[in-house]
Amino acid sequence: MNRKERGSIRQNANLITRLERENVRRVLLASAISVLVLSPVWLGHILMRDLRMSVMLAWIYLAVTDLLEICFLASAYYLLRSKRSEWYTRFLCCYWIVEEILLLLLGFAGTSKMSIMMKFLLFVAGGCLVPIIPPIPQIMSIVSEVLILGAHMLLGNLDFERVVYALIIVAFGNVVARQSYLNYIKQLADYSRLTDVTRQAETDQMTKLLNRRGLERRISSVWPVCNRQGTEVAVIMMDIDNFKKYNDSFGHGAGDTCIQKVSTVLMKQAKRTSDIAARVGGEEFLILLTGIRQEDAVRWAMECKKTIEDMQIPHARNNFLPYVSVSMGICHCNLKRDRREFWELRSEADRSLYQAKEAGRACIFMKDQMYARTMAEFGSQERMKERAFRSI
Ligand code: GH3
Ligand code: MG
Ligand code: MG
Repeated sequence: MNRKERGSIRQNANLITRLERENVRRVLLASAISVLVLSPVWLGHILMRDLRMSVMLAWIYLAVTDLLEICFLASAYYLLRSKRSEWYTRFLCCYWIVEEILLLLLGFAGTSKMSIMMKFLLFVAGGCLVPIIPPIPQIMSIVSEVLILGAHMLLGNLDFERVVYALIIVAFGNVVARQSYLNYIKQLADYSRLTDVTRQAETDQMTKLLNRRGLERRISSVWPVCNRQGTEVAVIMMDIDNFKKYNDSFGHGAGDTCIQKVSTVLMKQAKRTSDIAARVGGEEFLILLTGIRQEDAVRWAMECKKTIEDMQIPHARNNFLPYVSVSMGICHCNLKRDRREFWELRSEADRSLYQAKEAGRACIFMKDQMYARTMAEFGSQERMKERAFRSI
């Protein structure tokens, strides 16, 4: 990964949040392990009732560390559950400062070669498990490592040979932690680049709705779940009326803008995360609504149709309206009672759309029944009929 890529990651707030979320998850893991290890040790110390000063100090140190680790465990759990990403940076800095102080204190305890090496190995393990190595935590850890080693040398606990060993371990720990951090952000960057490319390939560039490929992929993952859960689903086919005439009157550019305006309505109406809206043809759209009753699906379609008509996009040669209108075909199915494939419902919705077109457009059809004929809502029936025949 070069400097430019690293820079773009730093600028990408989304990637940084994901990296910090991963680090909070690692803090959760690291503190859970610490609590599991520390609790029996200091509880064991209490049971032994050893009242020597050094043992008492160790006991207090372990108990305080354990308490702090429990606090970190609970806070990390809360932050991850509530997804409060604005607190991640502060939490991680706080974690590092406390851990550095605890390690600094630990650094002065125990003077045997073995115990000193164990402490530094613990340091390396911590650095690898929670690889937050932006500049500040890294400088903090290097400074504290130097302080520990310097203090040991001053106290005469460490000779030159041991300092070299400890430095090797510390350098090794820093390199491993740094590398694991870089690998992780590289993985994130690759993943995010891949999702961007996939998203683009599955999105219709003009309307930002799903295209056919995107629809197929979403359906392949959603449909088996709907079938398994026995959900009620509605497939709605929608087509702009007399769009060829619209293009002929106003030109292709205006036609594109009209398609975009209609798509915006769809995008707003299909607002639940489970709703799927796709552009499947030039001026033809498919909507899949899941977990919806038949009457609600019809209501949804009527609302959508009305919103499009209310935009009053002028249309010189439409059947019943001087504005752009749409026709819709709905197929509703309760998958609990009737296990059906998506394409079967889509064909049925297509047939209903055809019926709506045959019936004069600007209406909705479901199971051979017509809904929301626009003509009734506008002025006298006679005027509407007149307009209808003039435009055909
Ligand atoms: P109907 O009411 O029966 O649907 O009539 P229609 O004229 O809308 O249907 P038809 O399928 O005959 O014509 C669709 C037109 O949509 C033909 C094509 O020129 C136009 N079209 C398709 N894709 C686009 C596009 O991306 N932009 C524009 N401006 N027009 C498009
Ligand atoms: Mg059309
Ligand atoms: Mg069409």
